Amino acid sequence: MQAELEKIYQDALQELKGINDSETLEGWEIKFLGRKGQLTLMLRETGKLPEDQRAAFGKRANDIKNLLVTAHEERTTAIRQIELGRSLEEGELDVTLPGRPRPTGGLHPSTQMLRRIQAIWGEMGFQVYRSRDVESDEVNFTMLNIPPYHPARDMQDTFYTTQEDVILRTHTSGGQVRAMWEYGDNGTKPIRVILPGMCYRYEQISNRSEIQFHQVEGLAVGRGIRMSDLKGTIAEFAKRMYGQDAQVRYRASYFPFTEPSMEVDVSCSLCGGEGCSVCKYSGWIEIMGCGMVHPVVLQNGGYDPTVWSGFAFGMGPERIAMRKHSIDDIRNFWANDLRFLEQF
Ligand SMILES: [Zn+2]
Repeated sequence: MQAELEKIYQDALQELKGINDSETLEGWEIKFLGRKGQLTLMLRETGKLPEDQRAAFGKRANDIKNLLVTAHEERTTAIRQIELGRSLEEGELDVTLPGRPRPTGGLHPSTQMLRRIQAIWGEMGFQVYRSRDVESDEVNFTMLNIPPYHPARDMQDTFYTTQEDVILRTHTSGGQVRAMWEYGDNGTKPIRVILPGMCYRYEQISNRSEIQFHQVEGLAVGRGIRMSDLKGTIAEFAKRMYGQDAQVRYRASYFPFTEPSMEVDVSCSLCGGEGCSVCKYSGWIEIMGCGMVHPVVLQNGGYDPTVWSGFAFGMGPERIAMRKHSIDDIRNFWANDLRFLEQF
């Protein structure tokens, strides 16, 4: 039995030396050290020996077991190194291969323009106020000095809903009244806000008109705000938007919710006023409508129009973007055609 034990030890060491993968190593462990392994079985036989030999045999067998366990651990570490090297070699990367280009997305031209407009007004102290897209007839029209019989309602073909008096807003102007209600504190606090948002009109779609488009409304209310404040503020916006050389001019116009009302033109930055196709050879480009807030609207917002005054303006980001990039069809904005969108 003694000799048998030594033979198992030698066999085990011999076999271990030749093992180069973890699967075979596992088999080796089962064969020699497992519960039914050769060494384990041999240890169980200890009792069959004459009593005086048992202690020495048992000690030697345990020593061999420890030696084999240590040898196994060493081999395990070595095999791990071998296998790591092998897998690195197999999975070798060619870092010089060109990558697959991933197309990056971009911001929609309307979003870009909206952000630019918001940033400029933000610098000038105007806070963004988001009014609602689904609006009451009252706020969208009546509060803005457009009563039901008023002819100005014809200017705006409206999307009505199945619910009475609930419409999709036709302009962002109604938000002026909401801003006054929300920030005015019963007509006691000044306001400086811009109201960006989508507007909806039941229109025949053409290259000039869409059923949805953005507007950015602006409103300033305070004590002693005058026409000169409006003109100076708009001129400053035009300079920041179109460059320091930008000139503005005002043309008398009409909106029910401002009095007096004006259209604002900016000098054409493409031709410098000489006349070109973008400005239709006039040298000027229309950029917004504006005016002094109508006393009735101030009153509807909770202000006393004998003490408070204000100005309002409204511009269309798509219209501005169209002129800036010479886009001749507004339908491009919502067509989701990548050939169009990728240009921005
Ligand atoms: Zn021009």
